[in-house]
Amino acid sequence: MFDYQAPPQALAKRTILVTGAGDGIGRAAAICFATLGATVILVGRSTEKLEAVYDDIVERNLPTPAIYPCDLSRSKEEDYSEMATILENEFGKLDGLLHNASILGERTPISQYEASTWDNVMQVNVNAAFMMTQALLPLLEASKDASIVFTSSGVGTQGKAYWGAYSVSKFATEGMAQILAAELENISSIRVNIINPGATRTNMRAKAYPGEDPVSNPTPEDIMPVYQYLMGPDSQGTTGQRFDAQALSGPF
Ligand code: NDP
Repeated sequence: MFDYQAPPQALAKRTILVTGAGDGIGRAAAICFATLGATVILVGRSTEKLEAVYDDIVERNLPTPAIYPCDLSRSKEEDYSEMATILENEFGKLDGLLHNASILGERTPISQYEASTWDNVMQVNVNAAFMMTQALLPLLEASKDASIVFTSSGVGTQGKAYWGAYSVSKFATEGMAQILAAELENISSIRVNIINPGATRTNMRAKAYPGEDPVSNPTPEDIMPVYQYLMGPDSQGTTGQRFDAQALSGPF
């Protein structure tokens, strides 16, 4: 596992938005960031799941989070402008943006891939992250030290049979992160990096590998060290990099 432990309150006074915060890795990241003192903005499509995460954070006496229900498959440019306005009025700045929400789509050959599923996967995994990032950049610029993290996959750098739009969307995610990092490098303090979580015990993993024993994979909580590192001050100046959450050693 990536070798890092943030000091207590490493994320104090930071406001961090997490997409797909209702379940899986996003839920673990939101709770982890709150545990380190951050105010988290929980974005997801199921209000019920977001409320459960909200309650969990409040019950632990951590900074009160915010809930922002948003279906990334339907949201348009104007919805992200509205999101930026609301967040600006409420928080004034954004210190972290974790693009985590994704859908798997179908595991099927390209020759049989449904075009509507293809569109939906690209919408949620790529287009939504593009539109949200563009709308929130001014708020991220208002932070002295903001961090954007994109989530990729092993199939984001190596295509594999039957992974279809999901794999293509992760290649696109890698490209988007590299382009944005290069564009911001000399004109902004915003850093942009990529995490490849590796096999992790979530609903998405169970859907992709139905025959696998879930216990054979680490939990979302286990893979949090690299998320802590990239959202906190210790990663200042690190940009355009790709991190394996389950790499045997970190940068130290
Ligand atoms: P999950 O399916 O467990 O969680 C994904 C989250 O995204 C859920 O909260 C889900 O909401 C949300 N989401 C899905 N569609 C939308 C939408 N249209 N609008 C808003 N929110 C949406 O996945 P993981 O936690 O496993 O995956 C997290 C990230 O890690 C993804 O980017 C995935 O590609 C990546 N990853 C995961 C790996 C793994 O082994 N788990 C391996 C490599 C990469 P809801 O709960 O309502 O479905």
